[in-house]
Amino acid sequence: MERSNIIRKTAVDLRVSPNLNEEVYATFSWETIREQLAGLPGGGLNIAHEAVDRHAEGPRRDHTALRFLGSVSHRDISYGELSSLSNRFANVLRRLGLGRGDRLFTLTGRIPDLYIAVLGSFKNGLVVSPLFSAFGPEPIATRMNLGEAAVLVTTPELYERKVAGIRDRIPSLRHVLLAGEEAATANIPGTLNLKRLMDEALETFEIAVTQPEDLALLHFTSGTTGTPKGAMHVHAAVITHWSTGKYALDLHPDDVFWCTADPGWVTGTSYGIIAPLLHGVTSIVDAGDFDAERWYRILEDQGVTVWYTAPTAIRMLMKAGPELAKAHAFPKLRFIASVGEPLNPEAVWWGRETLGLPIHDNWWQTETGGIMIANNPALDIKPGSMGRALPGVTAAIVKHHEDGTVEVVEASDQEGELALRRGWPSMLRGYLNNAERYRQCFAGDWYLTGDLARRDADGYFWFVGRADDVIKSAGHLIGPFEVESALMEHPAVAEAGVIGKPDAIVGEVVKAFVSLKAGYSPDETLRKQLIGHARKKLGAAVAPKEIEFLPSLPRTRSGKIMRRLLKARELGLPEGDTSTLEGS
Ligand code: AMP
Repeated sequence: MERSNIIRKTAVDLRVSPNLNEEVYATFSWETIREQLAGLPGGGLNIAHEAVDRHAEGPRRDHTALRFLGSVSHRDISYGELSSLSNRFANVLRRLGLGRGDRLFTLTGRIPDLYIAVLGSFKNGLVVSPLFSAFGPEPIATRMNLGEAAVLVTTPELYERKVAGIRDRIPSLRHVLLAGEEAATANIPGTLNLKRLMDEALETFEIAVTQPEDLALLHFTSGTTGTPKGAMHVHAAVITHWSTGKYALDLHPDDVFWCTADPGWVTGTSYGIIAPLLHGVTSIVDAGDFDAERWYRILEDQGVTVWYTAPTAIRMLMKAGPELAKAHAFPKLRFIASVGEPLNPEAVWWGRETLGLPIHDNWWQTETGGIMIANNPALDIKPGSMGRALPGVTAAIVKHHEDGTVEVVEASDQEGELALRRGWPSMLRGYLNNAERYRQCFAGDWYLTGDLARRDADGYFWFVGRADDVIKSAGHLIGPFEVESALMEHPAVAEAGVIGKPDAIVGEVVKAFVSLKAGYSPDETLRKQLIGHARKKLGAAVAPKEIEFLPSLPRTRSGKIMRRLLKARELGLPEGDTSTLEGS
């Protein structure tokens, strides 16, 4: 196939008429989207009502909402069942004395109880904060303390391995609910058996009349310095989830949708739980880790029609070779989208050549709550570009002035910071207990994303890089400070500086530079010990894969480690402005 710099849509791509077209752009308003939702009495809005009960009360009651693919058996949960189960969970919370504004954290794999707990929490007005199950004890303790967790839903195995040892460091935690299949026989002091509580609970529940601006989700995300930031999202975010499910992911009522992201991160919540349910479609949930053969089988056997995945996964499929893909057929698949890190043009073409469909990159971040920029089905693709701003979203490239103001760059093809005009419904409403950091995200009407990009003459956005030092590894955002802090707790470490080192598959791997205290020698044994120490504290998702010893680390005169310089040296790039370097 000839590879040009644009992929024009064909009849195959458009065999289902896309929801998004120029007329939608011309007539779009968030108010009219809000009218597509049912709402609650008195102007109330609750994500779980829109996602579940609305369908359970209508013709989609018996339609499969969630299909869980386990290693042995499958479990289908219809909209009607999901409504009853989440009602039961809401009753469990109420019985435990938990209600409006209380924070529920989840730490599980992709099991039914997780989805039920999230939806049941919304129903009783709780705020949900998802944790990633590959986090170690430190990131878990940090986030639960910052978020003042009142209740945790986890599995016996994760509890014993990661939470039991830090439990006394989380004074706000009142209850631990053990979920999943192994929980039935677990008998761990200080925990409650979720199944037993669910069995005892009523399956009717009157949903809390939450208001659009009531807090619903707390998503922790990492910055360059300091502790993780708790991005606060409200029930009104559901308006963006609905809109983007329709226009960016093109969901139609009969779709079988598969979002491969883990609900421990924002994509797995917004698009792995909420958006598909809003549209009444069937959503596939695979409990297992990545496996190329099984993933192709899922696409084929489950008749997936719309697939939302990530560049790292696509690159791993590419690595597994075309023969494996060709051993399967995907006649039902009609739309593929990807998010989380730059999608190389090569991967877009691979989709077209190997799966018969190009891959549509889209862009958003924890703070935006939903997709903002996308290659949508109605649009020709420029491989390597993130696509165009969705309806209701105004995106621009801005330049910063010394006085703190920003200027919109009207000319095309100029590099600058990607900014969004404030006001879309799923915009974060703050960082928990950090008003100053939140204020810094805005300049006048513009929300500043921290990403560098450019816009071409056709309105397509192209990702250039991050404006800060955060690391994206396998689509997961990692704060270097959190990693450095864990390393510094080891008695041998004098200083640590952490960077993202480019990697052909996972985008970036976490690499740490470490200088040692007197009396320690930089040998292989210590390197392994440090990696083991970091893994134990931080978990596999966050710990460094590589550690390099240096006699000392470059610092600014004010004492900050110059990660930028460490990175430039690692990559053999020009060192840039080193005028603030200590000793220069
Ligand atoms: P998170 O908040 O963890 O979802 O991470 C958001 C960040 O991931 C963005 O600010 C970008 O730096 C990066 N990102 C997300 N989507 C894309 C994309 N399509 N292309 C390049 N980078 C992306």
